[in-house]
Amino acid sequence: VIEIGQPEHSVVTTCAYCGVGCVFKAEMRGEEVVRMVPWKDGKANRGHSCVKGRFAWGYTTHKERILKPMIRERIEDPWQEVSWDEAFNFAAAKFKGIQQKYGRDSVGGITSSRCTNEETYLVQKLIRGGFGNNNVDTCARVCHSPTGYGLSQTFGTSAGTQDFDSVEDTDVVMIIGANPASAHPVFASRLKKRLRQGAKLIVLDPRRTEMVESPHVKALHLPLMPGTNVAVVTALAHVIVTEGLVNESFVRERCDWSEFEEWAAFVAQEKYSPEATAIMTGVDPKDLREAARIYATGGNGAIYYGLGVTEHSQGSTTVIAIANLAMVTGNIGRPGVGVNPLRGQNNVQGSCDMGSFPHELPGYRHISGDAVREQFEAMWNVKLNKEPGLRIPNMFDAAIEGSFMGLYVQGEDILQSDPNTKHVVAALSAMECVIVHDLFLNETANYAHVFLPGSTFLEKDGTFTNAERRIQRVRKVVTPRNGYADWEVTILLAKAMGFEMHYNHPSEIMDEIAALTPTFTGVSYAKLDELGSVQWPCNEKAPEGTPIMHIGGFVRGKGKFIVTEYVATDERTGPRYPLLLTTGRILSQYNVGAQTRRTENVVWHAEDRLEIHPHDAELRGVRDGDWVRLASRAGETTLRAEITDRVAPGVVYTTFHHPDTQANVITTDFSDWATNCPEYKVTAVQISPSNGP
Ligand code: SF4
Repeated sequence: VIEIGQPEHSVVTTCAYCGVGCVFKAEMRGEEVVRMVPWKDGKANRGHSCVKGRFAWGYTTHKERILKPMIRERIEDPWQEVSWDEAFNFAAAKFKGIQQKYGRDSVGGITSSRCTNEETYLVQKLIRGGFGNNNVDTCARVCHSPTGYGLSQTFGTSAGTQDFDSVEDTDVVMIIGANPASAHPVFASRLKKRLRQGAKLIVLDPRRTEMVESPHVKALHLPLMPGTNVAVVTALAHVIVTEGLVNESFVRERCDWSEFEEWAAFVAQEKYSPEATAIMTGVDPKDLREAARIYATGGNGAIYYGLGVTEHSQGSTTVIAIANLAMVTGNIGRPGVGVNPLRGQNNVQGSCDMGSFPHELPGYRHISGDAVREQFEAMWNVKLNKEPGLRIPNMFDAAIEGSFMGLYVQGEDILQSDPNTKHVVAALSAMECVIVHDLFLNETANYAHVFLPGSTFLEKDGTFTNAERRIQRVRKVVTPRNGYADWEVTILLAKAMGFEMHYNHPSEIMDEIAALTPTFTGVSYAKLDELGSVQWPCNEKAPEGTPIMHIGGFVRGKGKFIVTEYVATDERTGPRYPLLLTTGRILSQYNVGAQTRRTENVVWHAEDRLEIHPHDAELRGVRDGDWVRLASRAGETTLRAEITDRVAPGVVYTTFHHPDTQANVITTDFSDWATNCPEYKVTAVQISPSNGP
């Protein structure tokens, strides 16, 4: 029997795991959290939650959490605990020295999709205003940057089109490269409810996911080969165009007709017919035709997609192809339809909104725009650089070349999260000062010179923005155990570097964001407290927010059809590496597991496993539970095998939650042509029996 104790008071706050954005009531006894109760008035969760949000908060008091700042001259030296002031002064002296020696552009920083909007805003402000360059990027670079590019090109806004409630009006659900049952469980429950009520389900995924296997749900599953998304989605468009299923009145009214005609002629080519694409995609032409007909004629069609779309060399092209599909069928701009990226982390949307990209100020305004830049200069009292800065992979390349020497990383373990670990190690090793601002001594910290202890979501005020553009309050539940909330740490670091930022509370940061960002002008903590949440755009035109976008017209004016030529990835199979590896998550773990693995009140799965089709396993003499060596052109690792026909012959699959797995040791350098989002979802590999690690 576990004695939990009775709560004395409670605080309403928002989950810091996935992009669903469930709201919880933290029940407290003094400074101790007794339990997290899903909040019935949470607009995204309505009293529901998954095991992560409800139980996995024990990491906040885990013994491995670092609570004191630390510094060291060289990464070979032991860490030395110091006062906050010493740490800030050490870091500031290093960064200033680097800029004097190598130039203004030799330092930069990475914002976190785990941190609040206000914290992210401050980091990019420090870099642009304090460092004097635009070398700011976000961990969204490695997940949903193609969403930003693709949706802004076609619709005019870098965000999903619908609210979650919209699913209640959906007749056809198409899921592409996502497994919401594992990664977005509370929203998956709403999807399943709608499917049980009779909505049809189409799933494009190399693997038979839990959504496909859901009881009482009949899914049309298109098990495409990894890397062929563009061919399959363009083939769906081919059927719609060549079988006369185009919603012509919508296209004529809402889109550029001449661009549509050019695009329609492109997709109508025989090479994009289901029959012509079948050999390379592995999708049965009959199923593909049926899927296209259902989506085009089955009523309200809604597309939900995930990292199986974006993390490819043609990630941005696939997002564009999906947008084309929604426009040609008129499935945009009303309840029940739309294009909906399922964001992985709690604040991916927010970190992108807050100006974390090297070419964009908050609100997705290009840094080269004089009028916008002058507005920020006046507010920040500083002259801004109008040249776009470096993306994360460019920072790594520049470090190896010797021109990028200082990096401030807030809330991301880039060594585990970014592709081609050897390359990341080489880059970090070449830098003269790496500042890691995080909860634990993560893998990146092995190459750091300054460690600034981070605060958890329970220890700070702020806001997160979920996958449906919903801005919700994060409320301080306990005093920061490390002494400062992350927003305060950034302010003090900036001060040591000679760049003053004055705020007494995160609400004042949000007031500044609202003053500078047209889609946020109506956002304030007072309004969030009154309404519970708002979905941006929230301004004079929409004072209570915008649940559904592009009603009556696209943000960019006319919807833009763009040709999506399929180009096979350069990551090819061959005699030496005959299988394709793709990756995903399980429900109980979260990303690289930094938090979930340090939570004792839930029994988590013990290890990542490699799913192998029985045919491929037999060929290699591998049995269920055996250790196997998994090798690619980039590196190798060792995993236990799970023999299953959930994956097709020729495809293997693993999760990446445990550091021992080191999945990114084997991923390659290939990336999305438009955004450099890494191609995590396709790696040519070989497997062979092993005696274990
Ligand atoms: Fe948290 Fe996502 Fe689970 Fe909700 S579904 S409790 S936001 S991890």
